[in-house]
Amino acid sequence: MQTVSSRLLDRIRQLIATPSVSSVSPQFDQSNRAVIDLLAGWLEEAGFAVRIEPLLERPDKANLIATLGGGPGGLVLAGHTDTVPFDAGRWRHDPFGGTVAEERIYGLGSADMKSFLALAIEAAREFAARDLRQPLVVLATADEESSMSGARALAAAGRPLGRHAVIGEPTGLKPVRMHKGILMEAIRLEGRSGHSSNPALGASALEGMHQVIGELLRWRAELQARYRNPLFEVAVPTLNLGRIHGGDNPNRICADCELHIDIRPLPGMTLAELRGALHQRLERLLADGDLKLSFEPLFSGVEALDTPATAAIVRATEDLTGAPAGVVGFGTEGPYLNALGMETVTLGPGSVDCAHQPDEFLPLAALQPTLDLLRGLIGRFCVTPE
Ligand SMILES: [Zn+2]
Repeated sequence: MQTVSSRLLDRIRQLIATPSVSSVSPQFDQSNRAVIDLLAGWLEEAGFAVRIEPLLERPDKANLIATLGGGPGGLVLAGHTDTVPFDAGRWRHDPFGGTVAEERIYGLGSADMKSFLALAIEAAREFAARDLRQPLVVLATADEESSMSGARALAAAGRPLGRHAVIGEPTGLKPVRMHKGILMEAIRLEGRSGHSSNPALGASALEGMHQVIGELLRWRAELQARYRNPLFEVAVPTLNLGRIHGGDNPNRICADCELHIDIRPLPGMTLAELRGALHQRLERLLADGDLKLSFEPLFSGVEALDTPATAAIVRATEDLTGAPAGVVGFGTEGPYLNALGMETVTLGPGSVDCAHQPDEFLPLAALQPTLDLLRGLIGRFCVTPE
């Protein structure tokens, strides 16, 4: 058995030591450029042609697209460069230390998912451009943990990057071809305040929201009767009423009420269709009243991932890992890559159970099997493609 190189460990530790938190809260949000620049140096040294694409709306953040070889098709090994914020007081180990202990590497981004980018580059070192009949692309994105603006910029640019893609999110090295989507929406009702003693003096937004909630629960029951996928632990789409605020005083008719909901659609349901159905249903419900209804997306949302079981990358990853392609409970950038004509599998070392947690770690024992797997995929899709 080969031993894992000290170069690989050293690079993983350098990536962990380079902060790149992304957050919708500006006080935590950081640039990812230092991580991108580290990757760019290593990729150039390995013979890749490297392109760094700053995000239009955030020029201090960037995606990196590195290509070895040329031509159509090819394999994309993708990962995000950012991490979630952290609570240093709850860590035993330094979040940026890359401490090796108990046969693990500890650090922010160790499992989710800076290590994968170092692993992809290490796996690629065995190959030279002249060996490849189809290109190998390493893709490193910005802002996956917050706005997904890196992946959205790639999708908006519309340039195909390759045919087959692996996103190295922590799945315990088991291939994943589906996840649910995420839609979060604010529903606002505006009425008229008035003295509580005479209902004719106002229009109650709170009573209107009571009707809205009833309608949402009926809609949820319909969706759950219509859509079902037994591969998921929760086999139906969910709709959660997460937050409500309305009114100010018992003796005033409530003029404003706002409800925040979260919908997790199954593969096969698109965010645009769901949002359209939500708006239409509630508009119809309140059409005869004198309440003003409005909606606001709470973030841009994540589509469900739905890569076919027959896709070549699904078959190849099942074959090389010996595990059937499954599902996960978290969202990824996969739907954006699929929209660019790729077929994407999520597959990476480490466990999602420790991601976004204090003392996040990657087991050292996962490194060599990941290298073997990635080299196997590069061989199949780039060196001797069918
Ligand atoms: Zn991740």
